[in-house]
Amino acid sequence: MPARRRSDEGENLSETTPEWILAGRAFVRGRLQPVEIAIDRVGRIQSIGKIRTGAPRRDVGDAVILPAATDLHVHFREPGGSAEVESIATGTLGAALGGVTLVGDMPNTAPAVTDADLLEEKARRVAGRAAVDVLLYASPSRPQALDRLARVAGAFKVYLSSTTGIPEAPTLDAVGELLSRLAEFDLPVAVHAEDPAEFRSDLLPRNPIDWDSARPPRAEKAAIARLLPPPPRLRLHVAHVTTTDGAERLRAAGVSFEATPHHLLLSERTGRDARFKVNPPLRSEGERKTLWEAFRRGEVPCLASDHAPHSSESKALPFARAPSGMPGVETMLPLLLAQVRKGQLDLSTLVAAACERPARWLGQPLGRIAPGHRANLIVVDFTARTRLSGQALHAPCGWTAFEGWDAVLPREHYRDGERIVENGEFVGRPSGKVLRPEYATGASG
Ligand SMILES: [Zn+2]
Repeated sequence: MPARRRSDEGENLSETTPEWILAGRAFVRGRLQPVEIAIDRVGRIQSIGKIRTGAPRRDVGDAVILPAATDLHVHFREPGGSAEVESIATGTLGAALGGVTLVGDMPNTAPAVTDADLLEEKARRVAGRAAVDVLLYASPSRPQALDRLARVAGAFKVYLSSTTGIPEAPTLDAVGELLSRLAEFDLPVAVHAEDPAEFRSDLLPRNPIDWDSARPPRAEKAAIARLLPPPPRLRLHVAHVTTTDGAERLRAAGVSFEATPHHLLLSERTGRDARFKVNPPLRSEGERKTLWEAFRRGEVPCLASDHAPHSSESKALPFARAPSGMPGVETMLPLLLAQVRKGQLDLSTLVAAACERPARWLGQPLGRIAPGHRANLIVVDFTARTRLSGQALHAPCGWTAFEGWDAVLPREHYRDGERIVENGEFVGRPSGKVLRPEYATGASG
């Protein structure tokens, strides 16, 4: 057998010449190390190591190369929302600039995505308008539509309490039956876990502290208890967990879940006005701290933004009447990268929660710098400081609950090896695609 030449440290998938080479300190196999990343003609990572070919080479110098993030929970408000608040075009632009290369868009639009025709209609809105790839969630609220819907949807989202666009939630007794039915389809299922029986409607909420009392932590606890144990084979994920009690139960049951930057970094006392009104509510400082400690220890599998913008006018309404939700897709990774710079968070913990696990949950070859994965990468310069300002962000709503916070915005973002962000500006094409999990029935990959 003739000896095959290998590069010294590389894991060559093929011997063909790469299209180009990205060189620098990159997050590979759990740590930052100086490498050269060979990227092939179709934008996949071909090999990592010392490359000795004549392909064009770009060295990022003192900056670092990370896998781009996946935000598995956003609301881009199409169809039915106002373009002055958000759209697929503007939401994916914010994602690209914030280092997010894939978003999971939720189905509670107007109309809600409850059948295959509505899902395909939404997919047509992505074509030619999205700066990054989009996975479309569907609502399983119409049982007769499920079979066809499961063949085109990227994932399901179940709401246990009524929400914008989806007023009717399954009764908690019906939830087990619904989850068993959804386990028949090979798709991820995310659940908004708050039990409305535990909400207090006798309170008139005037600030985030009242809101926490009106939708208390025990509502989350009761809903999570109903979900466990999940049916076998169900790919279950619980959205925006706000309590360490919830996090511990889900961990013990081996169920995936996410925490948001606002529940990790803000508490019910951070601000008094309706910009800080969100579902589930911001919690006490003590609860926030313990959730943050769990996140730091790597005990929260996924980070997700629950990006849900509303106009400044609607957020200026009296607290009780103002809508819930805040923007976050553009600031999710930059806020947490700033925590890494401050020494408050390990880079490996952040990459696992923001890049690796969400991509794996959605069945995508993303989120790791590894041969065979898509070359969706960001370049981050930890010496460049940004103070967040709602005006400077790209969400049309023009505000952020993190006004003035320290952030590290990616300098570059590559999608399939093509640069889409350069010096913090979008320079790509709106060629984002609708993706489905590679493990889903009928997925083309
Ligand atoms: Zn949401």
